[in-house]
Amino acid sequence: MIAEEGGEPLAAIFRRLIANTGPISLMHYMGESNARYYTSRDPLGGAGDFITAPEISQMFGELIGLWLTDMWIQAGREQGVHYVELGPGRGTLAKDALRVAKRYGLEPTVHFVEASTALKDIQLETMPGAQWHHDLSSLPPYGPMLVVANEFLDALPVRQLVKTPDGWRERMVVPEGDRFVCIAGSQPMDAAVPEARRQAADGTIIETCPGAAATVYEVAGRLIEQGGAALFIDYGHDSLRDGSTLQAVRQHLKVDPFVGPGEADLTAHVDFATLAPIAQSRGVRWLGTVPQGRWLRELGIEARAQALGEVAPEHKAALESARDRLIGEGQMGLLFKVMGLAAPNWPGGVGFHG
Ligand code: SAH
Repeated sequence: MIAEEGGEPLAAIFRRLIANTGPISLMHYMGESNARYYTSRDPLGGAGDFITAPEISQMFGELIGLWLTDMWIQAGREQGVHYVELGPGRGTLAKDALRVAKRYGLEPTVHFVEASTALKDIQLETMPGAQWHHDLSSLPPYGPMLVVANEFLDALPVRQLVKTPDGWRERMVVPEGDRFVCIAGSQPMDAAVPEARRQAADGTIIETCPGAAATVYEVAGRLIEQGGAALFIDYGHDSLRDGSTLQAVRQHLKVDPFVGPGEADLTAHVDFATLAPIAQSRGVRWLGTVPQGRWLRELGIEARAQALGEVAPEHKAALESARDRLIGEGQMGLLFKVMGLAAPNWPGGVGFHG
């Protein structure tokens, strides 16, 4: 089945590559796996592998649309503004957010940064007027940007370093039987570990995501030069921690990331603690990193669920369960975080105070 979807199975390509040139880094393994995974299917569709907040309920995209609109109005209703979404999936969030924005006179041009051809086809149907980009470099150079990235950064490949009795090494991937395993690489990597963390116990793993850091750096630069605001929403932590958070999900279940590369969604928790200072280093305002549940409540998700339930009583129970899924502490409410950024002369934004 996979051979039909994406040509030669990725596992076979990895085996050949490793046999010829030696172990590959975990970052390489994750990057190639996700490139294959996303471009060969719609992971969010009916028979998909996982579900995201905008697919759970329209309320999610609507509240994001309201947040962006409020920022834009307070900043003076500048024209020539762009809506930029990174990894827009099925385009659902953009559709819900921009429907709300339009009611208040905000009708930005729409730019999608998307690597997957399979998902681009679906986005074309949802948002026919959008423009597509492979990365951020081709985004328009003028005009404020309203940037949204939901569950985008977690899909970018992580690099892992492990402490061994011989010092710090990068975690590399090699085949073992019919799967892959991680081993410590042969090159010393001590110089890549911050001084304060170098003396950790053997076996300690430090995970970093250069792609997430580069994305936030680039977005922050655009906000400084062009104005605007950004929301990064993802599961992750806002304090430094050790350990691997690599995981694989297939058909709504956690599976082994080292079996069948390219057939499951590989993700890692987003290290928001590192990302905020990267944004600030460019002069952008970090509005805060807050739990998704609290943020959505401050934006009025409870009133929105109630209002929708009154209009359509037959959907009341479904709306309440969607609301609970998005804000419940044991569900998405605490693990998911919302990080807000804004240009220096833009307002503070709802949901990031107190
Ligand atoms: N934001 C959507 C989809 C999340 S899934 C939602 O909330 O439903 C991750 C999204 O990021 C997909 O659209 C995927 O194709 C895209 N993506 C993953 N890695 C990418 C990369 N390196 N460059 C661009 N897009 C990427």
